Amino acid sequence: MDWTYSPAPENAAIANLEPTYRPFIDGEFVDGGGEPLKTINPATEEVLAEVGTAAQEDVDRAVAAARRAHDEVWGRMPGAERAKYLFRIARIVAERSRELAVLETLDNGKPIRESRDVDVPTAAAHLFHHAGWADKLEYAGLGPAPKPVGVVGAVIPWNFPLLMAAWKVGPALACGNTIVLKPAETTPLTALVLAEIAAEAGLPPGVVNVLPGAGDVGAAVVGAAVDKVAFTGSTEVGVQIQRRLAGTGRRLTLELGGKAANIVYADAAIDQAVDGVVDGIFFNQGHVCCAGSRLLVQESIAEEFLELLHARVETLRVGDPLDKNTDVGAINSRAQLDRIVDLAAAGDEEGARRWTSSCPLPERGLFFPPTVFEGVEQTMRIAREEIFGPVLSVLTFRTPEEAVAKANNTPYGLSAGVWTEKGSKALWTAQRLRAGVVWANTFNRFDPASPFGGYRQSGFGREGGRAGLEAYLAV
Ligand code: NAD
Ligand code: MN
Repeated sequence: MDWTYSPAPENAAIANLEPTYRPFIDGEFVDGGGEPLKTINPATEEVLAEVGTAAQEDVDRAVAAARRAHDEVWGRMPGAERAKYLFRIARIVAERSRELAVLETLDNGKPIRESRDVDVPTAAAHLFHHAGWADKLEYAGLGPAPKPVGVVGAVIPWNFPLLMAAWKVGPALACGNTIVLKPAETTPLTALVLAEIAAEAGLPPGVVNVLPGAGDVGAAVVGAAVDKVAFTGSTEVGVQIQRRLAGTGRRLTLELGGKAANIVYADAAIDQAVDGVVDGIFFNQGHVCCAGSRLLVQESIAEEFLELLHARVETLRVGDPLDKNTDVGAINSRAQLDRIVDLAAAGDEEGARRWTSSCPLPERGLFFPPTVFEGVEQTMRIAREEIFGPVLSVLTFRTPEEAVAKANNTPYGLSAGVWTEKGSKALWTAQRLRAGVVWANTFNRFDPASPFGGYRQSGFGREGGRAGLEAYLAV
């Protein structure tokens, strides 16, 4: 018998989509001086809304408003009072979670199952977590009287738009800083609703400012008279920002790309490992900086493992992101789809064997089928470069030493995974992996209390937990 799923679409009207959105400066939505941009729904390529962008004057005005709000109000407010605002914002995010999830899925293309079950609840959790810190900062182990840094300039990417906004706003505000936030040009909508929520929570004007726009607005924000820059995005832009800030005395944290290894030992619980590997690379269409994009599987089980992997990937449903049964949604932009197509072609040219899921793709919109490359060598581009799409590169190893050497053979250092039945082997491996986060017998686990971040080309600084507070405090 052939089991199929009936469509189970979420109602797009829940997003309360407006025809136009505007920058949020000093507590108000205002007309920006920049050229408006159109944000699309990547599942249809239809325009969702027109969004006003910031010009240089708007950036200056937002930074001045944030400075005044910091000096006169927010930076002086007792932590217990700041906490009340943050708790209120977190509660409203939770209350409006369905609306935010649908809006995120429309603007980004990610499956509603993920925006509903991961992005929005994790964003709320980060805000709640940091609300709880606001009156306890002197117990964070960062000195007896930590002070805010001042004004934060934050630039975020399109892969987790609301979550990345919460990762910046939560710790910045909890520590007494004010913020000027620049969302990505393809996904500005949920950050603007977050601004509306901040206003609804009665947050004093100027504490949070949101400036939509492209890279030029991001460059203006990081180049403005801010005290700290927090950037998440590509290594290429991160390098430019670091160069620009060198010698200015401004503080900087960078959360950049990755090329994580997921190491599967022969003694691992195979079915769980298959599921973890699938989740590690196909979650969010592979648009994940910590995606497990390199599978390192022990040679003795490689054949069996790949058979099970193919069978599991065949069951992934690619399609309408608003459908509650969809596992893999739309690629966020035409530019990103082109990058994925090009890198996959490089895999063919360099001699890797491409396997593609036979799942049907929608007739319109930006989609790429789940893809697995076998016979991958360490020198190939698909083993070295971040594809940021639903493409897994498979390598094999014989000994634990070889697994570690191959896993560390990357310019990045953000995350890694280890699958084994033996705790001692998981620890032995984790201690030798040069990655900021190592997951054992799981993958892509996030908790606001647990610091996340990388080193080498993956950046520096941590987000979440006590370590994450340090970036937002003058200690
Ligand atoms: P990007 O770095 O160009 O964009 C990220 C953010 O930076 C956006 O808000 C963008 O407007 C802004 N920006 C662009 N140029 C800037 C500049 N000169 N100064 C300040 N801000 C600037 O990333 P992208 O082009 O959207 O994606 C390219 C690649 O980056 C992807 O293929 C992927 O490998 C990687 N990436 C990583 C992450 C991550 O979470 N670590 C997120 C998105 C993209
Ligand atoms: Mn969009």
